[in-house]
Amino acid sequence: MTLPSLHRIFPLILSIAILTICCEAADTAYTISLESPTEHLVQVQIILSPGPPTRELQLPVWNALYQVRDFAQFVNWVRAKDRAGHPVQIRSLNNSRWQLEGVGSGAIVEYQIFVDSFGPFGAQLNAHHAFLNLAQVLMYPSDSRNEAMTVRFSHLSRDWHIATPLPSASDVYTAENYDRLVDSPVELSEFHESDFDEGGGHFRVIIDADPADYDSDKVIANLHQIVAAATSWMNDRPFDTYTFFYHFPRGPAGGGMEHAYSTAIEINTETIRRTLFPLNSVTAHEFFHLWNVKRIRPQTLEPIDYTKENFTRALWFSEGVTSTAEEIIQLRAGLLDEKQFLSRLSEQISELENRPAHSTQSAEESSLGAWLEGFDYYRRPERSISYYNKGELLGFMLDLAIRDASHDRASLRELFQWMNANYAKKGRFFDDSNGVREAAEAVSHADLGWFFAKYVAATDEIPWNDFLRYVGLHVDQFSISAPDPGFMASRNFDGPMTVVALSPGGEAEKAGLQVGDIVTEIQGKTAGEESDQQLSRMQPGDHISVKVRSRGRDHELHWKIASRQQFSYQISDLDNVTPEQRAHRTAWLKGEAESAGAP
Ligand SMILES: [Zn+2]
Repeated sequence: MTLPSLHRIFPLILSIAILTICCEAADTAYTISLESPTEHLVQVQIILSPGPPTRELQLPVWNALYQVRDFAQFVNWVRAKDRAGHPVQIRSLNNSRWQLEGVGSGAIVEYQIFVDSFGPFGAQLNAHHAFLNLAQVLMYPSDSRNEAMTVRFSHLSRDWHIATPLPSASDVYTAENYDRLVDSPVELSEFHESDFDEGGGHFRVIIDADPADYDSDKVIANLHQIVAAATSWMNDRPFDTYTFFYHFPRGPAGGGMEHAYSTAIEINTETIRRTLFPLNSVTAHEFFHLWNVKRIRPQTLEPIDYTKENFTRALWFSEGVTSTAEEIIQLRAGLLDEKQFLSRLSEQISELENRPAHSTQSAEESSLGAWLEGFDYYRRPERSISYYNKGELLGFMLDLAIRDASHDRASLRELFQWMNANYAKKGRFFDDSNGVREAAEAVSHADLGWFFAKYVAATDEIPWNDFLRYVGLHVDQFSISAPDPGFMASRNFDGPMTVVALSPGGEAEKAGLQVGDIVTEIQGKTAGEESDQQLSRMQPGDHISVKVRSRGRDHELHWKIASRQQFSYQISDLDNVTPEQRAHRTAWLKGEAESAGAP
């Protein structure tokens, strides 16, 4: 997934074939009624087949985001009857689990749930559309989660269509089990659909946005390049049809969410109008996830435990190294050039080095910490690093280490292809960091234990220049005078911009800003994705005006931007780049080993 503003803290201290099952044959048949769009209320009916007399239903406490969100908070009521229509007893076992008695001949369960969470991780019904993360809406029978299921939708607004990667026969959608069902988002609206074929695959592009806000031809052209670059890099296309869901809302937007056969991506219209870079980046990232995390999957995420956290040490790889691949794919697609690529890499190094927690929290610990990211304090730079940020950098350094150790016969590409062949294609899951090490050593024929011990499991400083020398590059550290607004703010995935820290004795504190305040506007613009860039353009001495909500009251505060010393890192050529280093760099920038397959 991609959470655009989760760790980007300002100031710049710091970024199948159709199953031939009929609804009667499925153990569990759902009907989702979209009866009350303006009230955001959905009614769900579950028909359970005959089975044991006592059964339990579970609503997930999490899905998609690695955060417990307790979807049961939105369930207004639940009732049940038997197949003859007589009421049966249903009682809560805990907040997210219900028990049914006397249902040996089957049962019909009904409940009402409020759905108004925007973004690719949420479920939302309103007058404009419905977008459903089904795990947020559908309870599953605990004894038949792995059985086939069907779902249909009723009471759609006139002119709405349905888009989902689930196969269907007429209006009934089918899934081989609950995991597949809830890995398939559903868009119901007057969306615009553009389809294209590339490399033998069929791609559906579902866009729910005002056509005046984006250039459809450009979006599709870039998509072509991204899917071609990614499938050629992996030399694999494990699907016939893949669906891109895009939302370009005018307000705050929520990033991207990966699925096995689709992705849902949301980007603010102002951003899309200005540049397609963020759209390309998040698209390349989420598309690559169809391999890394959906198919090349750590054991610790399986089986999915919908009742509590699945703790994993592997997110530095499953998320962070997906970001590495995102950059390589954009290079191969011609959507980034060398200069842009190195500049983005420099920014990632600056972000990590300027976060004090980089010397106290390892990449594995930050992976475990994902489940704490909903808490404001946890997102402070002295408490946590981002597994996206450090993981992306580790991906690049591991790529260089494999190239060096294998005399450029292998690279990150061979590592992913090895994991795809030895885990994904065999239906196996890898043993977190040990599984990545196993793959890295298999393709490089070298001991890389030192890399994992120092930089993945521990917090040793990464010697950038030792790695970058292989491709004729080095990093310079500059002390720069940067604008300091006197506060840091960050957002949880869909939450408001919250002040998490203040510069002690600084101008923001003197103006009355407090930790915990919600920032609603900066310089007259709604606080959101653009805020960090907006602040980075300000100069020491500039006046800043910020609207905040503090303990329920709205205030407008003004103060002067100060300055602070911080380090900036820039990658550039070594003084004398040798022809060998040049050749290594060319191969590195293509994402390919120089002599793959050579003896
Ligand atoms: Zn991701």
